[in-house]
Order: sequence, then C-alpha cells, then structure tokens
Amino acid sequence: MSERRKLVAGNWKMNGGLAANQALVQALRGGVGQPVCDVAVCPPPVYLAQLQQLLAGQAAIALGAQDVSQHEGGAFTGDVSAAMLKDFGVRYAIVGHSERRQYQGETDLQVATKVKRALAAGITPIVCVGETLSEREQGLTEFIVRRQLSAVIQLNGPCISEIVVAYEPVWAIGTGKTATPTEAQAVHAVLRTQLRAATEQADRVRILYGGSMNAANAAELLAQPDIDGGLIGGAALKAPDFLTIVAAAA
Ligand code: PEP
Repeated sequence: MSERRKLVAGNWKMNGGLAANQALVQALRGGVGQPVCDVAVCPPPVYLAQLQQLLAGQAAIALGAQDVSQHEGGAFTGDVSAAMLKDFGVRYAIVGHSERRQYQGETDLQVATKVKRALAAGITPIVCVGETLSEREQGLTEFIVRRQLSAVIQLNGPCISEIVVAYEPVWAIGTGKTATPTEAQAVHAVLRTQLRAATEQADRVRILYGGSMNAANAAELLAQPDIDGGLIGGAALKAPDFLTIVAAAA
C-alpha cells in the first residue's frame, strides 16, 4: 500500500476566459468537498491572479502554472519567472509538457533547468516525460523516459525527491487513446526504479499518469501501485468529469 498522497492536477492548456474560469472554479469549489487527495488547477498564466482570488479561503484546490522560465529574471520577453509565479500563490508548475517540447523545442536540459528554478522558489515542478507513438513502436519507450528523467536528476541531484513526475505518452494526449493500466504501470515502475537509484526518498515521489485520463478510466489507472494521481487535460475543463477523477483518487 502506497503512503503517497495522490495528486490530481488539471492542465487547462490554452483554454478558458474570465467568465468560463469563474464558472468552472465555482463548480469545482462547490463539488470538491474535503478530498483525501491533493488537487490542483493550472490555468494559462494571464489568469493566475484571477484564479488566486477565486481559490482564496479554501485549501482543497491548489494553484498551478503550465510552465516556468528557465531564467531567474531579466531580458527574456514573454517569460514568467518562478518568483513571479510564487507571488500569485502558485504551488505547482508543469514543466516539460510534450506540447512545449514539441512546439517550443524545449530540450531535456532546459526542462531540467526549469525544474531547478521552480524548486529554488518553493514551487513543486510536475515534470512530464513520455514517448511518441513511433518511439513506442520502435521499442524505445523506456530509453526515452529514462533519458528525459535522467537530465532532471543530473542537474538537481537529491532535490529530485521534491518533484512530481508525470508519465504522459505523447500518443495518448488529447487523442482519446489511453495507455492500459498495465502499460502505464510498467513505465511507472521503470521511473520508480530510476528514482530509487538517485535518492533514498524515491518512494515519496509521486508519479502521475496523463493522457486521455477521464471519468470512465481513472479508477482503474489510479489503482495501479505506482500511479499516484493524474495530470488531466480535456477532462479538467468539465467540472463533473474532473470531480469524478478526484473522487476516484480518494
Ligand atoms: C495533458 O495535456 O497533460 C493531458 C493529459 O491531456 P489529455 O488529458 O487531454 O490527454
């Protein structure tokens, strides 16, 4: 039996707006009760101030960001630093999401540096790793996720006991295709073994699954011994679905 408290985090991606955010948070606050897992929502950065206000006065739902700058501050137009996120009550930051690796060309080293910046500011990075369909078909899944995590371990050393890892097979993100619980657990076990070689605290590290997790498949995925929660995209935008996943993690 795992002693890790599960985490369910909603990645809103580039969705939402002032009115929609308000309605969604109102529904989440109304329905979440006192969850026995950690819950977070990660809106686009321009809405962090709004979300900080909407989430004030409650402890059930934490605020997360979708990215953090690899730089501490200065002439980096468009970047948002870890310290700035912290100013708005951000507790978690997604780092190295496959969409950023793919569309913004983020490298393993940049991802590892972002992890360092987040940790230094007291923000828990949710570090995404995962293989593409062609990498899976070539039998490269383990190699890819180990390489991605290895860069984070190398730069951050024992501090990696403070991170959250999210295994997100790229072919499962936003596609409706989910890794089976057995497939996901197998990769999570690989990541756990890698963490154990790097820190004595590896059993504290939460490894989330992400990739078309939804209200129907969450319970089975979350029942696996090394699946410690979910990073939820599409289903995080519908309060009843997100709340069903939170309940399944309890
Ligand atoms: C994600 O983007 O992190 C994700 C898991 O998306 P979806 O749930 O929509 O596949």
